Amino acid sequence: MGMFLITMQKLLGLSVAELGAVAVEQGEKTFRGKQIADWLYRKGIHHVEEMGNLPAAFRTALATRYMVGRSTIVKAAQSRDRTFKLLLRADDGELIETVGMPYTDRFSCCVSTQAGCAVNCLFCATGAGGFKRNLTAAEITDQVLTVGEYASGRKMLKEGGRVSHVVFMGMGEPMLNYDAVLKTVHILNTEMGIGMRNITISTIGYVPGIYRLAGEHLQLTLAVSLHTADQEMRRKLVPGMSRYSLSEIIAAARDYIKTTGRRVTFEYCLLKDVNDSKDDAIRLAALLKGLNCHVNLIPYNQVEGSGFKAPEAKRVADFFTILEASHIQVTQREQRGAGIDAACGQLRRRSA
Ligand code: SF4
Repeated sequence: MGMFLITMQKLLGLSVAELGAVAVEQGEKTFRGKQIADWLYRKGIHHVEEMGNLPAAFRTALATRYMVGRSTIVKAAQSRDRTFKLLLRADDGELIETVGMPYTDRFSCCVSTQAGCAVNCLFCATGAGGFKRNLTAAEITDQVLTVGEYASGRKMLKEGGRVSHVVFMGMGEPMLNYDAVLKTVHILNTEMGIGMRNITISTIGYVPGIYRLAGEHLQLTLAVSLHTADQEMRRKLVPGMSRYSLSEIIAAARDYIKTTGRRVTFEYCLLKDVNDSKDDAIRLAALLKGLNCHVNLIPYNQVEGSGFKAPEAKRVADFFTILEASHIQVTQREQRGAGIDAACGQLRRRSA
């Protein structure tokens, strides 16, 4: 008699309709899908057996073919501002990092969308490690659940409180894993109650993805990591996206604003003597002129061996002032997670 293995499938990452289909396949009614979703996404259970309101026979049958699909925490690091980073192990051993950020008025989770990254930005440790694979909707959703659970366990979330904001800004380029990202967005919104306006998708400038996302007509925020307004410098800093020029990226952002009615955020990481001069600021102001946008200035967090340095405070202030004087909305992002290698990809590299 031969033995064969039935591969277990994950329930996490499935929509209510898909979960309903799973129930029907097991001889149950469609409405069970809603119940399962409630256990997975609102109660955050780890095992099928925990779904108390399902008939016992159904639970047993379900557990022979399906598992919830939660990850395990391999490592956790916390900084003084209580930002924490978790390193999660996927089924195949890949390591996924995710970040939790408690603020007074909200709790934000920064998720990874790929293991590794193919874009290879010059200043990024994830890029230097190369691309491994796309993460599934289950793996992205799991990050938000795990961060929420971790934060609740440490009283960073009030009783019954939960993750209120999600930013797709961790390891990987979200637009290159579009379907899983979009699926996760819908689960976060409809099943986990995270408002569309509290969800941000960040791209390094993958133009076709920006147009495609605009076509979804969602009220989420698009953030474009520009980092320079100089075409030559852009090619150097972001070699993996050099087939899209700055003007093509701006045209796509303009289309996004027009189609969705949403303001676009531009991320600009200030690197000492690379993109932090007054001329750089003037060039950026010219590039973004007349656009309904917001600029987030992020002074670089120095990393050993990266070759880049943190900008001087005076340079940052001047850069800020020039943008403001050009009537461009600008904020300087709080540096969160100092001391725990919060720049993308670093915790994973340490552990590996
Ligand atoms: S900055 Fe983002 S897009 Fe660039 S290599 Fe790192 S993870 Fe990839």
